[in-house]
Amino acid sequence: MATDQYTRPPEPTLAARTAVGAIIVIPLLALVAAIPVAWNHWISWLDVTLALVLYLITAVGITVGYHRYFTHGSFKAKPWVAFLLGVSGSLALEGSISSWVAGHRKHHANSDEADDPHSPWRYGTGAWAVTKGFFWSHMGWLIAQEPIDANRWAPDMLKRPLTARLSRLFGWFVLATFLLPAVLGGLLTWSWQGALTAFFWAGLVRIALVHHVTWSINSVCHIWGKQPFVSRDESRNVAWLALPSLGESWHNFHHAEPTSARHGVLPRQIDPSAAMIRFAEGRGWVYNVKWPKPERIEAKLAQPATMGS
Ligand SMILES: [Zn+2]
Ligand SMILES: [Zn+2]
Repeated sequence: MATDQYTRPPEPTLAARTAVGAIIVIPLLALVAAIPVAWNHWISWLDVTLALVLYLITAVGITVGYHRYFTHGSFKAKPWVAFLLGVSGSLALEGSISSWVAGHRKHHANSDEADDPHSPWRYGTGAWAVTKGFFWSHMGWLIAQEPIDANRWAPDMLKRPLTARLSRLFGWFVLATFLLPAVLGGLLTWSWQGALTAFFWAGLVRIALVHHVTWSINSVCHIWGKQPFVSRDESRNVAWLALPSLGESWHNFHHAEPTSARHGVLPRQIDPSAAMIRFAEGRGWVYNVKWPKPERIEAKLAQPATMGS
């Protein structure tokens, strides 16, 4: 993927750093404020439903769209499916498709080594070093905004008309992901309070949850958990994150076999994203799916005898 004329991209501006900081911190504050707000009855079933539906749409946009489809090419998709995946991923507020794909491919190419954009092992292996590393891998790297060259890591995303266009429109998705729940909440209750609480729960709190679950794959899943597979990094499988992350937390196998459409390959490893890809494949919406072959899974296991345990 390296090109001969690689040039280091310019340093991010203070405005860019501040904008990313605000996008991270404001939903986080909303999450902290959520409990007293709920206590005071500033929440309705409509808010909870909108939050849940928008969580699923944006999380699937990241797991099935940004990650398994755009970054790793685990399957091919009909144009309308690719469009919906691109839109729903953009609404998760984790950056444009091209920047996300570039950062994630750089992560795979340098996992837990010096050039990994978000390794928790960046500062060393001592207690304080890993504590600092945890925060770095979880969100610090986003605020620091070390340059990742999309021309080098995601030239296909910059070239493809769909992803290039959606990436350029990212600013509008930032607006839309907050406006949508507010407008729906306002119209469905015909009240300003309905608009405000829907904005809070299905906008701010929902985004904070999607962010922290996604970031946990970079932080938690590179520190704690099981390593049944052979990979040349610290990637791990974390069972308790499987449901909220829609199967992304089977991260050890993902690093062992990055293009596989299924990450949870061992018995009882729930992978809702893979189930959705299977469903779409059955209807012809996606095709050429890279399902893991049993002999490949067996070959990647550190100790073949542990299969099924
Ligand atoms: Zn990883
Ligand atoms: Zn990946």
